[in-house]
Amino acid sequence: MNTKLEFISRNHVTSDIWQLHFKKPRGFTYTAGQYLEVNIDDPNPDERGNQRWFTISASPTQADIIITTRLVEQHSEFKDDLFALKSGDKIDAKGPMGDFVLPAKSAKILWIAGGIGITPFISQLQYLLDTEEYNRDIVLLHGLRSINEEPAVELIKQCQAVMPRFKLVQVLSESKPPKWEGYTGYITAPLIQRAVPDHLKRQIYISGPEPMVDAMKETLLKINVTEKHIHQDWFPGYKEKY
Ligand SMILES: Cc1cc2nc3c(=O)[nH]c(=O)nc-3n(C[C@H](O)[C@H](O)[C@H](O)COP(=O)(O)OP(=O)(O)OC[C@H]3O[C@@H](n4cnc5c(N)ncnc54)[C@H](O)[C@@H]3O)c2cc1C
Repeated sequence: MNTKLEFISRNHVTSDIWQLHFKKPRGFTYTAGQYLEVNIDDPNPDERGNQRWFTISASPTQADIIITTRLVEQHSEFKDDLFALKSGDKIDAKGPMGDFVLPAKSAKILWIAGGIGITPFISQLQYLLDTEEYNRDIVLLHGLRSINEEPAVELIKQCQAVMPRFKLVQVLSESKPPKWEGYTGYITAPLIQRAVPDHLKRQIYISGPEPMVDAMKETLLKINVTEKHIHQDWFPGYKEKY
C-alpha cells in the first residue's frame, strides 16, 4: 500500500537515538515487527539516494506510527531531510512489509539485537504488554556500545515487572558502568551458550546492522543451530557492528 505519512514531532531518546512520530493513516494496519519503505523528495540527494526502510517501532496498539533511528554527526542527506521535517509535512511510504514478526505463542524465542536493531523487538514487546500476553518465553540479547544507548529502558522495565519469562541480557562493547557485572565485548558463540543454554530450542530472530546480522548467523550455524530456526532482519547503511 502506498501512503502519505504526516509528521507530528520527534523526541530525543538517548545518545544519538531519536523517535519520529507520524499520524497513522486511516485504515492502515500492520503486524508488530513490520517495516515501511520511506521516500523523501530531495532534488539533490547524496549517492545513497532518497529511499530508506524503517521498522515501525510502535506497536499496532499505539496511536502513532513511530520510527526510531540514529542521527550520527556525519549523517546522510536523507537523514538531514528526515530530521528537517516540520509538523504537518508529508512523506511517501510504502508498506507494511516483512515477516519478521512474532511466532506462535508456544514458541521459545531468542531475540538478538545489534544496537538500533532492537526496533522490531520494541514494537513486539509493546504489543505483548498492551495485549497482556505476559507468558511469552523470550530472551533478548542486546549488543550495544554502552548502557546509555539502550533506547527502550522504560518499556523493558515494565515488561520485566509483568512477564516472568522475559529476560534481558545486555552485552556492552565499548564502555561499562563502574559496577557492571554483566557481559562485555561482542556477542560470541561461548557467550550465547552461557547466557542462553537452551538456545537450540529457541526460534532465533537477529536484527541489526548488516555485518552483525550476517556474522551472527555464521556463529549460530557453527554451534549447531538449525538454519530454519534462524530469522534475520538486516539494516543496511550502518557500517559498524552496532
Ligand atoms: C527492513 C529494514 C528495517 C530497518 N529499520 C531501521 C530502523 O528501525 N531504524 C534505523 O535507524 N534504521 C533502520 N533500517 C536501516 C535504514 O534504512 C538506513 O539504512 C539506516 O538508518 C542508515 O541510514 P543512512 O544510510 O541515511 O545513514 P546514516 O544513518 O546517516 O549514517 C550511517 C553511517 O553511514 C555513514 N554515511 C552516511 N552517509 C554516507 C554517505 N553518503 N557516504 C558514505 N557514508 C555515509 C555515516 O557516517 C554513518 O557511519 C532498516 C533497514 C531495513 C532494510
